[in-house]
Amino acid sequence: MSNAASEFLRQAVTKSTDLGHRHIIRQGIDKYNEAFERGRARFFNWEAAREQCREVKSEAVNHLDHYLLEFEEKVKARGGHVYWAENSEEARTYITDLAHRRGVRTIVKSKSMVAEEIHLAPALEKQGIKVYETDLGEFIVQLRNEPPYHIVTPAMHLTRGDISALFKEKLGGVDTQDPSELVAAARIWLRRTFFAAEMGISGANFLVADSGMIAITTNEGNADLGTSLPRIHVAIAGIEKVIPRLEDLAILWPVLATSGTGQPITCYNTLIGGPRGPNETDGPEEFHVVLLDNGRSELLADAEQREVLNCIRCGACLNACPVFRTVGGHTYGTTYPGPIGSVLTPHLRGLDEFQHLSYASSLCGACTDVCPVKIDLHHHLLHNRRNAVNEAHRPLTERVAFKLWRWAAMSAGRFSFLGAVGRAALRVVYAVGLERSMLDPLRPWTKDRAAPPIPAKSFRSLWRKGIGTN
Ligand code: SF4
Repeated sequence: MSNAASEFLRQAVTKSTDLGHRHIIRQGIDKYNEAFERGRARFFNWEAAREQCREVKSEAVNHLDHYLLEFEEKVKARGGHVYWAENSEEARTYITDLAHRRGVRTIVKSKSMVAEEIHLAPALEKQGIKVYETDLGEFIVQLRNEPPYHIVTPAMHLTRGDISALFKEKLGGVDTQDPSELVAAARIWLRRTFFAAEMGISGANFLVADSGMIAITTNEGNADLGTSLPRIHVAIAGIEKVIPRLEDLAILWPVLATSGTGQPITCYNTLIGGPRGPNETDGPEEFHVVLLDNGRSELLADAEQREVLNCIRCGACLNACPVFRTVGGHTYGTTYPGPIGSVLTPHLRGLDEFQHLSYASSLCGACTDVCPVKIDLHHHLLHNRRNAVNEAHRPLTERVAFKLWRWAAMSAGRFSFLGAVGRAALRVVYAVGLERSMLDPLRPWTKDRAAPPIPAKSFRSLWRKGIGTN
C-alpha cells in the first residue's frame, strides 16, 4: 500500500467517526443543496443547459491546440506574455524568476486551484516573497496553515466560532462572532495588502480564445483588486480552461454559478485582456498568462478519459458524494478532493501512488448526475480501477486472493465446498473471539462495527429448498 493510501485510510477512520465534523459538513452541504435546487429551477431547461456546456467544453478540448494558439496570439497582440509550462517546476520557476527580476516583495493572490496544484505560494515564500491569499475562505485557511478543504468553499469545515477564535488570535483586536464584523475585519486587513503588493496572481475560470481574454468569477471582488492594483498581473491556468468564443460565457457563467453555490450568477464576472493600454487609467503594467500542462496532454491523448478535462471546477460532485461528506476534503491529501479529484489525481500524480482514490467511491453515480458538463465520473473511477489492476503494482496477497476466488467461482462444486469451509471456520473464529483469532484481515472491519451473524444455511441450500424463489 502506498504512503498516500495508508494516510488516506488513517484520516478516513478519524474523520468518519468525528461526529462534530460530519455535522458541520452536513449543514454546509444541506444549505448548498437548497440553493442549488432553487438555482436549477431558474433555468428554463437545466438538462439542455448542461448539454450545451458539455458541447462547448468538448469542442474546446477536442481542438485544444487550435484554441490555445488562437488565445496566445490574441494575448500577445495586446501586449501580454504567454508562457507554456510543461510541469509544476517550470511554472514555479517562471513566476518566481519574474518576481525576482521585478523586485517583488509582496504578492496578493486570488483563488486558484492550479496555484495549489503546483505549490506556488510555498515556493514564493521560500524566496522571501510574502504571499497573501485574498479570497476570504483561502485567507482563513492560510491563517490556519492548512490547504483548502473544498475547491469552491475552502473553509467549509470551520464554524463561525472557529473563525472568530482564529481572527482573535491572528488579527489582534478582533473579538466578535458576528459574521459581518468578521468579514469587515478581514476586509480591512486585506485592503492594506492590496495597496502594498507589486504583483497580483490569479487563476482563470476560462481562457477565451476568440478574444484572448481571461474570465474570472468571484463573489468578493478580490480578484478585481488583485489584478488591477499591483503593477504586474500573472494569471495561471490549466490548458483545458480554454473555450472557443466569448458568447460561450453566456451559458458557462450562470451554470458554473448555479452548480458552484446555487447563485443565478456570481457577484463579480471580469474579463481581462492584457496590460493597461496607452489611454487607460488603471490596470497592471505587465500581464502574463502561464498555461500549465502538468500531465493534461497525456489525459488528452486518452480518448476514453479525455472528457475529464471538461471539468469547470464547480465542486458540485464533491457536495453530492457520500464519501466526501463522510471523510471530508483534507482526508484525500490531494489538491482536488472528491470524485473529480479521485479521477484526475492518478493522471496528474501517478496511478501507483493514488490508485486507492478510485476505490473511495460507492459508485452510486450521484457525482455524474450533478456534473454540469456531464462527465461520466463514476465510470471513469471504474476505468481507473481497471487501469490500476492492469498497469499498476498490486499486492501479492490481493493477486493470490483473486486468483483463488476465480478458481472457486469457476465451479459450482468448489464454490459450495469452500463456502461451507468458510462458514465453519468463521464459527470457530467467533467462538474463540475475533480479537484472539489469527484472522488479522477481519480486524479493521470489526474495529468500528459489529461482525454480522453467520447464517445457519448457505444461500444455495435455501434456494434449493425453494425459500426466496417467489
Ligand atoms: S467534475 Fe463536474 S461536478 Fe465535479 S467539479 Fe468538475 S464540473 Fe463540477
